[in-house]
Amino acid sequence: MNNNALDHYYNMADILTVSQVLDIVIRLSGEGTTRSELARLTGFSKSTISNHVETLLAENLVLEGSGFSRGRKNSHCIYFNADCGCVISVDVGVTSLNVAVCNLVGKPLAASFQEDVDVNLGPHIILNQAITTAQNLLNHNHIPMTKVFGIGVGIPAPIEFATGRPSQPPLMHGGWGNYPIKETFEEAFGKPAFVDNDVNIMAMAEYEAENTHNDGNFLFVKLGTGIGCGIFCGGKIYRGASGCAGDIGHISIEGNDDLCACGNRGCLENLAGGAAIQKRIQWMAQNGKSDFLASCLAKNEPITCRTLGAGILAQDVACKEFVYQTGLYIGEVMAKLVNFYNPSMVVFGGGLINLGDLLFTGIREKIYRCSTALATRNLQIKCSSLGEQAGIKGAAIMVRDRIFMPSQFSKNYLLFREEARPNTLV
Ligand SMILES: [Zn+2]
Repeated sequence: MNNNALDHYYNMADILTVSQVLDIVIRLSGEGTTRSELARLTGFSKSTISNHVETLLAENLVLEGSGFSRGRKNSHCIYFNADCGCVISVDVGVTSLNVAVCNLVGKPLAASFQEDVDVNLGPHIILNQAITTAQNLLNHNHIPMTKVFGIGVGIPAPIEFATGRPSQPPLMHGGWGNYPIKETFEEAFGKPAFVDNDVNIMAMAEYEAENTHNDGNFLFVKLGTGIGCGIFCGGKIYRGASGCAGDIGHISIEGNDDLCACGNRGCLENLAGGAAIQKRIQWMAQNGKSDFLASCLAKNEPITCRTLGAGILAQDVACKEFVYQTGLYIGEVMAKLVNFYNPSMVVFGGGLINLGDLLFTGIREKIYRCSTALATRNLQIKCSSLGEQAGIKGAAIMVRDRIFMPSQFSKNYLLFREEARPNTLV
């Protein structure tokens, strides 16, 4: 790698232009682009583009090879070099901890998926566990710290993005509120860390997986212990004024006035979130409302959301009705959001999507019945295909986008590059 390729740029304006070209290459990375296409998209002359592409090639940030650009075969396609560095991804769940080292399109190079982790042990224990796991992954796979651009962290709580601190997390106890997560990782690794709500990073992974096949206006809904929504607007995540946009679990459902942990009544999460479902089916088992669940209880088997899935497979009428009704509750909130936001796509992820078709029958039925015809005419409703990797993949993409975003490029990338110079290695 030629570490001096950017050195002939003396002013920030030139560096900003290079970063704008790189930004477009990253957006088009799935299919590649050409110098002429870059000139057309940026409005810069072909000679300017050629100079900038040479710089990016010398920096090893892009690669050149044969491929297709706008449907035509071309032997000089330009691609983003996803392996020019890596990111430490940390996905903290209420009951899980996933840690990985990913390349810059979120492909795991090494990963550790830990189940039965209790987030309520508190940030000191959980974050230390994440740091130790990441250090082991780097060591065992001989990945030097100089290759690491930064750390991306997903947390199941509202996050103030600028500070990377959770704000009154309803599902996380043990001192997580306002905890300096960003600083903890920055001190441990000496690299920039970025912290976001777990649903937002899953939405980023989904957009990357969709690549150019989506207009960038979509909703990603996580159905897990809690219910949250990542809002993509014009190809970017929308966080709102304080960073808590998309907290749809606390929109109320008509005809329901149960008290929620948030202090309000009738919240969706209190009916259709994983924790609420578990409580409700345990009540059904104890009160003989489902033959299947009652028989599981009689055999001393745990009554969980998995038991509910087994009840559907066993054709238990009450289990089937319960899941369909849960779909209607979720659909009621989604119908309002579809009317308000007019997304091109609603994608569902999280563990509860394993409850299957009956859940989605309820969701679809309510959305189509209660949304306007124009809002649903081209609406796609689907399940995420990313599974448990969505969090770590999205965390890596978040870091890449923050490091390479044109307004931050001069600060973040040039700092990384300075540290990665062979003569400054310690
Ligand atoms: Zn609530």
